[in-house]
Amino acid sequence: MRTNSTTDTDVLVIGAGPTGLLLAGDLAAAGIDVTLVERRPHGLGNMTRAFGVHARTLEQLDARGLANELLATGTTLTSARLFGRLDMDMTRLPTRFNHLLVTPQYEVERLLERRAVDAGVTFRYGTELRGLRQDADGVTAELTDPDGTPLTLRARYLVGTDGHRSSVRTALGLPFPGRSVIRSIVLADVRLTDAPTDSFSVAGAGDTFAFIAPFGDGWYRVMGWTRTRQVDDSEPVDLEEVREIARKALGTDHGMHDARWISRFHSDERQAPAYRVGRAFLAGDAAHVHSPAGGQGMNTGLQDAANLSWKLTAVLRGEAPDPEALLDSYQSERHPVGTMVLRSSGAIVRLAMAHTPLTRAARSLAVRLLGAIRPASARAVGMISGIGISYAPAPGSRRPSGRRAPDAHLREGRLYELLRQGEFVLIAPEGANPAPPAGTPVTPKHLVRATWTDPAKKAAVLIRPDGYVHWTSN
Ligand SMILES: Cc1cc2nc3c(=O)[nH]c(=O)nc-3n(C[C@H](O)[C@H](O)[C@H](O)COP(=O)(O)OP(=O)(O)OC[C@H]3O[C@@H](n4cnc5c(N)ncnc54)[C@H](O)[C@@H]3O)c2cc1C
Repeated sequence: MRTNSTTDTDVLVIGAGPTGLLLAGDLAAAGIDVTLVERRPHGLGNMTRAFGVHARTLEQLDARGLANELLATGTTLTSARLFGRLDMDMTRLPTRFNHLLVTPQYEVERLLERRAVDAGVTFRYGTELRGLRQDADGVTAELTDPDGTPLTLRARYLVGTDGHRSSVRTALGLPFPGRSVIRSIVLADVRLTDAPTDSFSVAGAGDTFAFIAPFGDGWYRVMGWTRTRQVDDSEPVDLEEVREIARKALGTDHGMHDARWISRFHSDERQAPAYRVGRAFLAGDAAHVHSPAGGQGMNTGLQDAANLSWKLTAVLRGEAPDPEALLDSYQSERHPVGTMVLRSSGAIVRLAMAHTPLTRAARSLAVRLLGAIRPASARAVGMISGIGISYAPAPGSRRPSGRRAPDAHLREGRLYELLRQGEFVLIAPEGANPAPPAGTPVTPKHLVRATWTDPAKKAAVLIRPDGYVHWTSN
C-alpha cells in the first residue's frame, strides 16, 4: 500500500545490514510500501562481525516468529567469565531466552532478509545513496544504480541504516563525534584441538587480553589485543600472531588451526547528536558505534529498528494523533540507550586494558564489587542483554509504562506470539472491554485484544508493538 501517489515509495531505507533488514521487514509486514537500497551487489553478504545475539533481541525475533529458527543455527551460553573472576550469569534473566546465542551475523541477516522479501520489500542491490534533500512533504534521494547511472527516488520518509560511515548522516550534515577507543584488535574464526572448558571467557593482564567463544558447530571466534603490537588495520595478520596473543593472555592457544577468517580492526566510540532530522532518521551503526566488548552493536541497531518501525507505521497509516511527537520519541527513547551502550562497552574495554598500578587496582575493585554485590551484577547483565532497558513512561502515564513487557500466557496464546501481528496488544481481564487511553497511536482496526488467563490479574495493560508497556488501567 503506497500512501501517496506523488512519491516512489513511502519509506526509503538505505543499507541492508541487520538494522535496515529488520526495519524494512516490519514496515512491509504492516502494509507500508518500502524500498531498501543496498550498495553491495545481491548475494555478497556482510562479514561475520557480530556473533552474539542477546536475550532482548531474541525476544524481538520471537515477536516476529524467527527466534526458534535462529536458535537452531548456533549455540547458547548461559554465563561469561570476565577477567578470570567475574561471572556474568544469564540464567537469572527473567525471560525464556536466559542466555546469549552465539551465531554468525549472516544467519541473522539471512532470516531478516527472507522475512523482508516475503513481506514485499522492494530491494535495490548495487545501488548507492549519494545525497539527499528534503522538504515539507518528503525526501528526495540521489542514488546511482548498478551501472553507475544517476537515479532519483522520492519517499515520504528515509532511514539511514547504512553503517558507521553513513552517507545519510553526512548528507544530513550531522557530525559523528567521538574517538578511537582501541586499535589493532585481531580476530580469527578457527578450529581448536584443545577447546576451553569455560564456555566464554575474557582474560588478560592489562597489556594483553583475549577471548574465545564457540559457534557451536566446531568453529570458535577468537579476539585478542596486545599493547606491544599496535599497528594500522591494513597491516597483515596471520594465525601465529593470534596464537601468540592467546598464549600470553590465556596461557594456551588451545591448538588453534584452520582459520577461515582472520582480520585486524580498530574500534571507535561515536554517536550522532540527533537520530532524526525532519523526515530522515538514523539507526544502527549509522547512529552509534562502540567497542565490540559486550557484543551490543548489532543488538542495539535491531532494537533501534524495532522502536522506529511501529512509529513510522502509525504515522503513515494516519493513526498517530500527534505524529511529530511520536516520531520525536524515537530520538528521546533510543539516543540515551545508545549513550549508555557507549559507556558500558567502553568501560569493559578500559578495564581490560588497565595497565598502570592505579587502573589495575580500580579494575580489581570493580570486578570484586560487581562479583560480590548480586544486584549490581544482575543489573549489568540486564543492561547488556537488553532485558533491563526501559523507556520513560508515555505522556500522562506512570510506571510500568515504558518498561519491557515480559512474555505472558494469555487465553489467545503467548504475548510474543500475539505481537507477531505487529500491532498494539490490549490485555484485559475476562469480560472487560477497556478502550486504549486517548492519544494512543492506534485505531480499533489494528488493535489486538487479549485476555488474562490468571483471574488474579485485574488491570488492563496495553503493550506497544515493540513489546514495551504503553499504559495500564491502574
Ligand atoms: C569484530 C566485530 C565483532 C562484533 N561483534 C558483535 C556482537 O557480538 N554483537 C553485536 O551486537 N554487534 C557486534 N558487532 C557490531 C555489529 O557488527 C554492527 O553493529 C552491525 O553490523 C551494525 O548493523 P547495521 O545494519 O547498523 O550496519 P551494517 O551492518 O554496517 O550495514 C550497513 C549496510 O549499508 C550499506 N551501505 C553503506 N553505505 C551505503 C550507501 N551509501 N548506499 C547504500 N548502501 C550503503 C552497506 O553495504 C551495509 O550493507 C561487532 C563488530 C565487529 C567489527
